[in-house]
Amino acid sequence: MRFDILTLFPEMISSVLNESIIGRAQKGGILEVNAHNIRDYTKNKHRKVDDTPYGGGMGMLMATQPIYDCYLAVKDMLPEGKTKTVYMSPRGRMFNQTVAKELSEYDNLIILCGHYEGVDQRVIDEIIDEELSIGDYVLTGGEVPACIVVDAVSRLIDGVLPSEECYEDESISSGLLEYPQYTRPPVFNGKEVPEILLSGHHGNIAKWRLERSLELTKERRPDLYEKYMAEHPPVEKKKKKKAPPVVDKE
Ligand code: SAM
Repeated sequence: MRFDILTLFPEMISSVLNESIIGRAQKGGILEVNAHNIRDYTKNKHRKVDDTPYGGGMGMLMATQPIYDCYLAVKDMLPEGKTKTVYMSPRGRMFNQTVAKELSEYDNLIILCGHYEGVDQRVIDEIIDEELSIGDYVLTGGEVPACIVVDAVSRLIDGVLPSEECYEDESISSGLLEYPQYTRPPVFNGKEVPEILLSGHHGNIAKWRLERSLELTKERRPDLYEKYMAEHPPVEKKKKKKAPPVVDKE
């Protein structure tokens, strides 16, 4: 999958996404992440990319021309394939694991990062398929949100993680919050690893993990718990038929 991020701060993108698992996936040719500096496309002789808003108000707005020209240049570079363009914005649809899964079906994802007070509406109307928010709070720019989207989507691409189980079994993807996990040493500050995890009995371990997941989800995310229970109703044990009373033949 290919990601193209339109930004005024490309180093913010590369410093996050060129490291660790996403960095390795890029080196391995599974993903391609390109950060494009919108400022390189401005026709303003002072390299300005923003201006004051019509109608007054605080702050500056990113102007149409540099964003639009940057977008057209990127579109020209893209290989054939299913493409979507999103704008990171607190006004957008809330990003979550379902949206990440949806976006992972695309071949190319273009992400516009706003800054200052945002972006002139006309360029949003011209190039953007959807606005996406990462939460009900306002950040200084769209770069951190864009990195979050790229990271969450990339983990769902074949070959980025060692196996699909890595994310299918996790919090949210599984429909539940993840059970507690432990690694060596067996005792830390007097706290012991639950004995069952040392038992080697896979069936009992799976049962213990599911029970802990259900407990945690019920306590912290009753909304997820209700949904999960509706989709996975507990299987009722068949009642044993009562043996007929013994009739004394005499
Ligand atoms: N004036 C804008 C508003 O009230 O909606 C907020 C602008 S914000 C200071 C600057 C940029 O940060 C936005 O254009 C957007 O790209 C990004 N941003 C801020 N909060 C965000 C969020 N919760 N989700 C996604 N992007 C966000």
